[in-house]
Parts: sequence; structure tokens; C-alpha cells
Amino acid sequence: MKEPESLLREARGILREKFLAADVGITGANFLVAETGTSVIVTNEGNGDLTQTLPKVHIVLASIEKIVPTLEDMSQILRLLARSATGQEMSVYTTLSTGPRRKSDPDGPEQYHVILLDNGRSTMLGTEFQDMLRCIRCGACMNHCPVYQAVGGHAYGWVYPGPMGAVLTPTLIGVDKAGHLPNASTFCGRCEAVCPMHIPLPKMMRHWREREFERHLAPSEYTSNLKLWAWFAKRPPMYRFAARLAATSLRLLARRRGRFSTLPMAGAWTKDRDLPAPQGGTFISQWKRQRGSRR
Ligand code: SF4
Repeated sequence: MKEPESLLREARGILREKFLAADVGITGANFLVAETGTSVIVTNEGNGDLTQTLPKVHIVLASIEKIVPTLEDMSQILRLLARSATGQEMSVYTTLSTGPRRKSDPDGPEQYHVILLDNGRSTMLGTEFQDMLRCIRCGACMNHCPVYQAVGGHAYGWVYPGPMGAVLTPTLIGVDKAGHLPNASTFCGRCEAVCPMHIPLPKMMRHWREREFERHLAPSEYTSNLKLWAWFAKRPPMYRFAARLAATSLRLLARRRGRFSTLPMAGAWTKDRDLPAPQGGTFISQWKRQRGSRR
């Protein structure tokens, strides 16, 4: 197995040449500062700095909600970003670019272009989803989300995963295509509690569910399974019996391996990952046991 240092040396040897040979470098931006025309990128690896200083042309492609009024505003939010994203006081590289290289500059691009991307963002203004435009993509909501931790980022199927993706993606590609995302939430509220921009994510996911319901977009198997669940939920003894039966059968079926690579009706899950078999008893039986031991 290669040591991290030798992997780094190898990657650097190959990639550095590509950075040096590139005509154009394209970056995003964590912030765009209106008062100075500055684009700001934050990385821990320095890859963004190579991209924007070595090639002759630097193109910044960023969505409109990245614009903040002043440098002072940017510096306030920057502190929140590093702290909420990786728990750092400050990211390793924070680079501010304001135009092409000047005569006295030792390096930098000869041309500097900023492309502003709307792509549906302005339609969020004045709606119940407007607060989402405050998102600084720190990722704290994802890191604390029990659903994201279980399913991983690819399961969200588009650019933005986690709770912020569950709100943003239906806005950008339509609730008819992404209505399942706001449904993939336990509404535990951890995402909202950790969000440094105080974005009410669960409330907005609820709004998407309402819209999906109003437009009758929920798939039929989803509504029929919910009806089945509601039937059991209204009959507690039956519910407890069925939950116990399902948990025990799945545990016995999984045997010593403790997980399933395939399972009927769970194909969407097992296509990309194993499904852990239930461990221990049902929630109710564990709760009863705990309550008994406290007495
Ligand atoms: S919604 Fe909040 S916690 Fe999630 S990425 Fe955006 S700013 Fe960070």
C-alpha cells in the first residue's frame, strides 16, 4: 500500500503539468462581492488557486445568491462557513480575485470573466423557499442528517445532496422530478438546529410535500404503502405484532451476515448498498425493557 506522501507526490507530478498547460481555468465562487467585483474561493487543498492563477484566462461561474454587498459582509459569513463546514477557524486557502493581473503583479490571468447563473433561483424570491437563497453550502445540515448518513450523497441523484438538496433540487428541476427528496426526511430538525444561516429546512420540505400532495404527484405505491401503514398504526396490538414479526424474520433471514445484498421490495436500496438487518427488538419492546429496568 502506498503512503499518503507518495500518493501526493505522484498526483502532484501528473496534475501540476496539466495546470501549467491549461489555457483556461474555470472556478466557482463561495462569494461574489458586489462593492469590489471580487470573487472568493475557499479550499483546503489549493487546487482552486492553481486553477485561477496559472492559466491565461480565469472564468468564474457562480449562481446569483453568492453575491454579498460588501467585503465586511463576506468576512462575517466566511467565518461561519469554515466553522460549520469542517470545524476550522479558517479554511487553509481563502483567495480573493479582483480582475486580471496588473502590470506590477508577478502572476495571475490575463483575462478575468464572471458568469452569473440564475437557473431558477430568482423564481424563489417572494416564495416560501426564499430563505434557501441564504445557503452558503457549508454542508453542516448533511453532516448531521441521519438520512444522509445512512444513504450517502449519490442517492439524492442530483448536484445537491442532504437536507439542503431536498429543498433546493425541487426548486431547480421541479417537484414532479424531485418530489421524493423532501419526503426522505425524519423531520428530526437537526439540519435546522446546526444551520449557521438559520434556514428553516424542515418547514420548507413540508411545503414541498404539500405541493406534491396538491398536484397528486406521489407515486401510487407510495400512497398505498402509507395506507397500509396507517391501517396498522390505528390498531396498536396488530402494529406491534407485525413489527415484531418483520424484525424477527429479517434477523433470521440475514443470519450471521447481519445484512442483505438483495431483498424483495427493497431493490432501490440494495442496488447500491447493503441493507442492515434489524438488530435487537422493536422500538416498543426496547422502550418497555428500559422503562422496566429503571423502575
Ligand atoms: S442549508 Fe444551512 S447547514 Fe445546510 S449547507 Fe446551507 S448553510 Fe449549510
